[in-house]
Amino acid sequence: LLEIDGVTKRFGGLVAVNDVSFEIDRGEIVGLIGPNGSGKSTVFNCIMSIYDVTDGSITFDGTDITDHRTHEVVNSGLSRVSQESNPIESMPVAGNIQLFTLPNSVTSLRGGASDEEIYEYAARVDIEDKLREMPDELPHADVRRLEIAKALATEPDLLLLDEPFAGMNQAEITELAATFERFREEGITIVIVDHNMGGLMNLVDRAIVINNGDKLMEGTPTQVTEDPRVQKAYLGTAEET
Ligand code: ATP
Ligand code: MG
Repeated sequence: LLEIDGVTKRFGGLVAVNDVSFEIDRGEIVGLIGPNGSGKSTVFNCIMSIYDVTDGSITFDGTDITDHRTHEVVNSGLSRVSQESNPIESMPVAGNIQLFTLPNSVTSLRGGASDEEIYEYAARVDIEDKLREMPDELPHADVRRLEIAKALATEPDLLLLDEPFAGMNQAEITELAATFERFREEGITIVIVDHNMGGLMNLVDRAIVINNGDKLMEGTPTQVTEDPRVQKAYLGTAEET
């Protein structure tokens, strides 16, 4: 479904992502892990064309999207939840979701979803009883769920989640992981970025490890956690959420 081929991203003299290649198959849940600053978010930003790649190519569903604009990438079925939440504080939850719904021929400008559809996006992340609340009234976990609902509103085939579990307690993490399993059953392919090696391994089919911009390896959760290169990359880094 997604093919990253030799992607390099430099910021001046800094090589944030160095010749990284991987593929994501339809229906998978894949982890993209690595210590802080290893280049994970930069990979997502390159996929979404927030950043232009310095070198390499990105193919989605058979189409080369390397030089597509961000809105074209989104329209082709890719959606990303950023590491930082950025709801519009002056709008309730429903309005925040509405803004991200795809325009249709009837209501062209600000999203085309009906109230029922917005309710459904919210219900898929269990915030349907909070549609009238303002973002600053919500606990952290619900703000993160709102960000995921916004991403669902563009009807993605592939969802890129940047640190979705950060700042959540264990009960919230377990519930959100079950939500992602439901997304998979609904036909959404998922890539999850996490700087923490341990937390994801029950959820993902496969993990890709990057360190200092380089891809170290990819494999099953067992292969990854037992790999000496991965253990070395994580030596001295805090394993925390
Ligand atoms: P974290 O786990 O802390 O989120 P990460 O793996 O997502 O880290 P990135 O945010 O991709 O890491 O950053 C990789 C490297 O690229 C870092 O050295 C970072 O400072 C640098 N970097 C990222 N974005 C930019 C930018 N817009 N301009 C300059 N340098 C950047
Ligand atoms: Mg990051």
